[in-house]
Amino acid sequence: MKEIKFTTNYEPVLSFAEEDFKTKYEERVGNNPGYIQVVSGETKHLALCPRCNNPVAILGIYKKIDVAPHARHAKGINIPNVVQYDEYKFQHCPYHKKRANYIKEYVSETEEPQRQELFKIVKEHYDKAIYLLQEETGIYITLKMAETLAENYVIMRAYNYIDATIYNIPWYLIYSFNGFPLYHMIIRKNTTLYRHLIQLGFDLKNSKIKGHVYVENSEGYLLTATNYRYVVDKNDNLKEWLDFSIIRPDVTVTDTLLYVSVDRFSVSVDSYHFGNLINYQNWSLRQNVLDIAKRYM
Ligand SMILES: [Zn+2]
Repeated sequence: MKEIKFTTNYEPVLSFAEEDFKTKYEERVGNNPGYIQVVSGETKHLALCPRCNNPVAILGIYKKIDVAPHARHAKGINIPNVVQYDEYKFQHCPYHKKRANYIKEYVSETEEPQRQELFKIVKEHYDKAIYLLQEETGIYITLKMAETLAENYVIMRAYNYIDATIYNIPWYLIYSFNGFPLYHMIIRKNTTLYRHLIQLGFDLKNSKIKGHVYVENSEGYLLTATNYRYVVDKNDNLKEWLDFSIIRPDVTVTDTLLYVSVDRFSVSVDSYHFGNLINYQNWSLRQNVLDIAKRYM
């Protein structure tokens, strides 16, 4: 992986791409013997995987290797008082598994107290999560939609999903939800979603919001996020996508409401963006969105 952290808390990552990585690492661990251990005669510089919290060893900083410096899971190694190696989490880590869908399985009860910290971050930075979700999907998130997402997030306890991290908060907001009606949805022009709606022949009208259109009539169509998946390439880049479906009521079924698929498409998302945004100093708060979080969370 290309970034590390130092505790199991939700904290900003230290990226290998950062200037003075080595200095920053050494300043952070100081003389704590837990992070620099001799294992079978070899000195290991340790930290934590930002995705699974397992100990990782730093490679290519203290000894030349023929690929770029990175970190690798340190199987079976513990950092005393910080973290114990956990095989189950390792098996589910994107950096180990390389390719999968994020799942909606819940963490065990013993881990729930720690997830309260994640929940607190969602609440405190809800305006940023909504902003990013809007930016990367092209869906203009109205206050009403922000309210629906906040309420759903709490009902689904999406912060307790096993794969939920600080970084993927914006995407879990919509991934944990079962879909918005397309009727009167406001969409940014020239986005993937926009192009698919055009292709499907939807009646799109210019919105009062600059650069946006809204869907005129849509006969009960829904937009739903069906999958949130990732691939880790050979250079350790984590690439992630939200898969969306556009569905409409099945008119051939009359005794219950069922849907048929009309279209599917993927939108790529960058989950490290949110981690950076949390620490962004010049952010101008959107108080009305934060008030929603306060009300529901
Ligand atoms: Zn990991």
